[in-house]
Amino acid sequence: MTILVIEDEPRVAGLIKKGLEEYTYQVDLAFDGETGKTMALSKNYDLIITDIILPKINGIELCRQIRKAKPQIPIILLTALGTTDDKVEGFDAGADDYLVKPFDFRELHARIRTLLKRIKPDHVIHKTILHFADLTMDLQTKSVTRTGKEISLTPKEFKLLEFMMQNPERVLSRAEIAEKVWETHFDTGTNFIDVYINYLRKKIDKDFETKLIHTKSGMGFIFKVEK
Ligand code: CA
Repeated sequence: MTILVIEDEPRVAGLIKKGLEEYTYQVDLAFDGETGKTMALSKNYDLIITDIILPKINGIELCRQIRKAKPQIPIILLTALGTTDDKVEGFDAGADDYLVKPFDFRELHARIRTLLKRIKPDHVIHKTILHFADLTMDLQTKSVTRTGKEISLTPKEFKLLEFMMQNPERVLSRAEIAEKVWETHFDTGTNFIDVYINYLRKKIDKDFETKLIHTKSGMGFIFKVEK
């Protein structure tokens, strides 16, 4: 789920981004209406949150222009102004919802979920807990357990394991892991992926009879159940 946030106040934009990322959304930021419009039209966002008073193009006008090009995309207007006229104007411009600053983050999250539900099936939104064999990963609390035993991972180990759990029972090449987990191109001269795989093995597999992380010689790694 990727959300575009258009907000000219960097501190507020940063807070929204941080808050949404805690709910596992990916967030892009734009700090003026013009940039926001370009980004909204060039990338496939699942939802847009925009402030009303913005440089270059204001939020109401922006909403109107995005709506014309993308009739389906959910848009939430965010503003310090809370009069009925603003709301009516916002809805007329095609906004789906309206939130007055300062707002409670849980309220924003609840509204996002409601809007996304309209366009995405339930399981996509609520899939915050991953299961594989006796391993469980909670994406919201960032915790991992195996046979109920808590396993402590570093953020990178967590991301690597999350990628493996979401792609079980197929060979994952080092290049693919580098791209998806490290967002970098794999340099064959380095072995950092193998190093991280070993860290993970020690934490996930070492104390258990059934191994989940397996090396496919010359190809990469596979996440599956095997003794
Ligand atoms: Ca503003």
